Amino acid sequence: MSESDLEKRFTEARQKMVRQQVKRRGITHPLVLAAMETVPRHHFISPDLQYAAYDDGPLPIGSRQTISQPYIVALMTQLLNPEPDFRVLDVGTGSGYQAAILAEIVNEVIGIERIPELAEQAKERLQRLGYQNVTVHIADGSMGYAPDAPYDGIVVGAAAPAVPEPLIMQLAIGGRMIIPVGSSFEQVIQRVTRKSGSEIQVEYLTPVRFVPLIGKKGYDRDWL
Ligand code: SAH
Repeated sequence: MSESDLEKRFTEARQKMVRQQVKRRGITHPLVLAAMETVPRHHFISPDLQYAAYDDGPLPIGSRQTISQPYIVALMTQLLNPEPDFRVLDVGTGSGYQAAILAEIVNEVIGIERIPELAEQAKERLQRLGYQNVTVHIADGSMGYAPDAPYDGIVVGAAAPAVPEPLIMQLAIGGRMIIPVGSSFEQVIQRVTRKSGSEIQVEYLTPVRFVPLIGKKGYDRDWL
């Protein structure tokens, strides 16, 4: 099969993914749907697993980490209710897929990844795909990333034992954070909205399973 035939098949698989996995489960935000239709998820996955890029589940990305299920990425992005002028912090950038989805919608994305090999790969990949509004830093994202704070939104792609205080403090007033919180076997996506200097609103939304957020305000080691 020629390169362009293959890309055409991936595009068709992606459209089907949006119809069957994302829309059908209730994702309606037009900008989120457009981003899911645009970002070539197969480019965020190693060649030997690309055939499964548009399947309804997570996939390994190396260093014992995973790219989240497409629906969960769409859901977390919709819960953020992103607006085009937003600056968003993406904690646990991993493959860079969630960062790319955000970058399609918002003005600026700051990614943080603790594993240097994954961060370098994500950086290189996002640059190759033309995402000029994403920067990726190698750091402990459980502490946030103070130099670019405050953020209109924060998306955390790994499970925390509790909502990290530094992340709340780096939200703008009115800003929101989407974060899975819980133990190794049971986590719930929370939406934390910063109402004022010290007042937050917390909504408990969907049960999920993520890899752990490992860091000063996260878990101290992997679950495996
Ligand atoms: N959003 C990613 C999901 C990757 S899995 C994607 O779309 O591919 C979660 C990622 O969080 C892993 O790459 C893991 O290394 C990273 N991670 C875990 N703890 C972290 C921390 N304290 N700071 C930054 N990244 C962290």
